Amino acid sequence: MTTFPFASLLRPELAGLHAYQPNPGEFTVRLDANESPPLLSPEAREKLDRAVVPAAWNRYPDARITELRHAIAAHCDASPDEVLVGAGSDEVIAMLLTALASPRDRAQVATIVTTTPTFVMYSMSARVRGMNVLEVPLDSQWDLDVTGLCRAVEIGRPNIVFIATPNNPTGGLMSLDRLQSVIEAAADALVVVDEAYIDFARRNQLSLLRNYPNVAILRTLSKIGFAALRVGWMIGPADLVREVDKVRQPYNMSVPAQAAALVVLRDLGAEILRMRTAVIVERERLAHGLRALGFAPVPSEANFLWVKTTRPAQEVVETLASRKILIKSFYPRGGRLLHYVRITVGLPAENDRLLEEISACA
Ligand SMILES: *Cc1c(COP(=O)(O)O)cnc(C)c1O
Repeated sequence: MTTFPFASLLRPELAGLHAYQPNPGEFTVRLDANESPPLLSPEAREKLDRAVVPAAWNRYPDARITELRHAIAAHCDASPDEVLVGAGSDEVIAMLLTALASPRDRAQVATIVTTTPTFVMYSMSARVRGMNVLEVPLDSQWDLDVTGLCRAVEIGRPNIVFIATPNNPTGGLMSLDRLQSVIEAAADALVVVDEAYIDFARRNQLSLLRNYPNVAILRTLSKIGFAALRVGWMIGPADLVREVDKVRQPYNMSVPAQAAALVVLRDLGAEILRMRTAVIVERERLAHGLRALGFAPVPSEANFLWVKTTRPAQEVVETLASRKILIKSFYPRGGRLLHYVRITVGLPAENDRLLEEISACA
């Protein structure tokens, strides 16, 4: 119940939404948020610790984020004017939705199209802006349903189509030919290809940028070991970047965030490769262990596993929670999600603990 004097001034959409809150409980093993395990070498950690101290505390950061945009451009084979940087890709998603918000033709509000299940921030961010959200279920293999998506594009006339690939929470890459069909069907919309987990995948989708004028790629440092920084970015057409940049807060990226992200991109390439390999090796070991116990993990191209359970997912999550291990499930949404859990790949010892405790739920 909202009783303060301005309650009637709130956007009506807020009544149906909840503030994002990670589980506040005390857990000894947290495998719920797709963060990287703590694999950073002491040398890399020291470099970062030194980099985050501002030369002058009284001065604003670089409002143009010049150096970091150049480093990102070099890293992603793009030009600096094709790069938009945000406080996490969450902020980039918000900026895109704020900028590309004009309803089409006689519609009252703008529409976005995405898949389900997928990353919740596309729909959350669109809903708080009063936009209409069409969610097209992934097929039985958790791949794109091209027919359903093309119909949603045709009927909904979206401003933006959001596709995460590798997808969260299902872990797989979307088939490239299907993705291309959707991009072609949505030729007058922006198709955002979210590559948050690309460091753990066999291939990336950067070539789409050069082949289609309506594609933008999202990347983040959050999943490869630097979630504390809040640094994400979009690579997209320079015209689009120029317009969306007008809704960006001038000082959205703090001095420590810009400086540390520069170190990550310029100096920690080998470190990232090592972390990536360590996570992939553990991911495959964890998947093997789960299969041996009778669970059915879906092949993953990310730093987590999407695991089919025989018992209800709720029971698995609660049993593990009672043993101080936190994983993620979306069982309140029902349907096929009632029998799936998402497990972030942790340190070897954490994965061992998980395997030991989850065996009670096989
Ligand atoms: C975690 C995640 C993000 C959020 O990244 P931030 O850069 O931390 O805001 C974006 N997209 C997907 C699919 C994610 O899973």
